[in-house]
Amino acid sequence: MATSARFAGTVLAPGDPGFEDASRTWNACFASRPREVMVCHSTEAVADALRGVRERGVPFRVRSGGHSMAGLSSVEGGTIIDLGGLDSITLSEDRSLATVGGGARLGDIYRELWRSGVTVPAGTCPRIGIGGHVLGGGMGILSRSRGALVDHLAALELVDAEGRAHTVDENEHPDLFWACRGGGGGSYGIVTSYTLRTTPVDEVTLFTFSWSWEQFAPAVRAWQSWLASTDDKVNTFLSLFPREQDMVAAFGVYDGPAAEFEELMRPLVTAVPPQDQVVEVMPFIQAVDTVEALQGDAVAAEQVRAQGSSAIVAEPADDAAIATLQEFLTAPPSHRAEVAVYGMGGAIARPARTDTAFVHRTGLMAFEYRTDWDLPEDDGKNLAWVKALRHAMAPHTTGAAYVNTIDLALENWLWAYYEENLPRLMEVKRRYDPGDVFHHPHSIPLSLTEADIARHGIPEPVAARMRAAGLTS
Ligand SMILES: Cc1cc2nc3c(=O)[nH]c(=O)nc-3n(C[C@H](O)[C@H](O)[C@H](O)COP(=O)(O)OP(=O)(O)OC[C@H]3O[C@@H](n4cnc5c(N)ncnc54)[C@H](O)[C@@H]3O)c2cc1C
Repeated sequence: MATSARFAGTVLAPGDPGFEDASRTWNACFASRPREVMVCHSTEAVADALRGVRERGVPFRVRSGGHSMAGLSSVEGGTIIDLGGLDSITLSEDRSLATVGGGARLGDIYRELWRSGVTVPAGTCPRIGIGGHVLGGGMGILSRSRGALVDHLAALELVDAEGRAHTVDENEHPDLFWACRGGGGGSYGIVTSYTLRTTPVDEVTLFTFSWSWEQFAPAVRAWQSWLASTDDKVNTFLSLFPREQDMVAAFGVYDGPAAEFEELMRPLVTAVPPQDQVVEVMPFIQAVDTVEALQGDAVAAEQVRAQGSSAIVAEPADDAAIATLQEFLTAPPSHRAEVAVYGMGGAIARPARTDTAFVHRTGLMAFEYRTDWDLPEDDGKNLAWVKALRHAMAPHTTGAAYVNTIDLALENWLWAYYEENLPRLMEVKRRYDPGDVFHHPHSIPLSLTEADIARHGIPEPVAARMRAAGLTS
């Protein structure tokens, strides 16, 4: 273990106690072995770490919670700039603003804010780091009722490619602020703290409904039409499990009293009566824990082998799409394969598609095709299953995908993640990181070739705008 005179943090190298834990990424399938982990506890340490790796010419990646689905917060033979020591969580006196360090975990944020009766609407896995999560959008158990996490971002502090720290908000560096609300992690700089607008929270109504495999198609149809027409305070997800588990489950949180929900749930439970149903009022923090438990072991695991891919859907899936889902879940590569469906709309849909870099305002649902497994020899069949399912479902989806479910197998990822916001994201990249210092396989590029434009399926009007703006080479 070493602490350099210039770097006010801790450097962990192979053989040092703590190195193995610090270098581990959530997804073992895409794990790489770094040469060192630079653990930072301050913005100054982050700036020093960045200048240090640049001077030494060492490849590096930034890490918050290490939950990149594709292991993008580590790099083979390079340095991890680890924000784990930047985990403070403080509330303004009036409790309306929470400032959290770039390495804080969602579970700790939920818990700390809960003590003061407030929260932020973020993801369902408490171990996710705020760092990568908020930059990509952030959707979870309060998103339909209170909005995507990016819509609660008031300001951030960012260390740029030269190691300078900036406050970034609506007034200072507004373009960069726009890009940091949905443009994904690891492209513009290192965010050392986020200031988030909180909202009051107390008790919520947690619900789960489950049906047998026999009722797969009617249950999916009924849940979709319920989602499309129900109150914005209903936050809901659908879990489609492999046939052998004999279960389709809808769950979620009604952001209000149970008495109101009794009425709202009626269209769903009368359309296709569930085998089991539980509706329970509980403190919000208990709902966070319950939803984590409902999602299976992979969410709580320190490390798994996993693959996921997402697809945004604007209309309820038709019978052919539902049959495709059912077919793939009849012969999954792992008993832990799943299609998880996030209900969108509600408050997520209130901002316009170009208001922030998070473009998916018009989605009704986000499908997440995912699987996790134990053995390296099963990698191939699991990766192939996700890819084949995504291809088979493509005609039934918008073609867009959620950058936080980052998928290195996605051929047209730039268009899928960002759609019409891509040119502006590239312009911001040119202004703030013209040397492409913050680079990974799915980072925002400085320019595109004509071949890239074709590969990513960028429509001609947008391609023409990019040529006119000098974003092509
Ligand atoms: C089990 C699991 C459950 C999930 N559940 C949800 C969910 O409910 N809702 C949802 O919306 N998403 C969910 N996700 C996706 C999650 O939001 C993304 O994987 C997110 O990027 C993880 O952030 P992280 O900081 O933990 O990851 P990391 O691996 O640390 O970082 C991810 C990316 O962001 C970059 N980055 C991280 N921190 C910073 C920073 N401070 N400044 C600049 N760049 C940074 C990294 O370099 C990397 O490219 C889930 C993922 C997993 C694995």
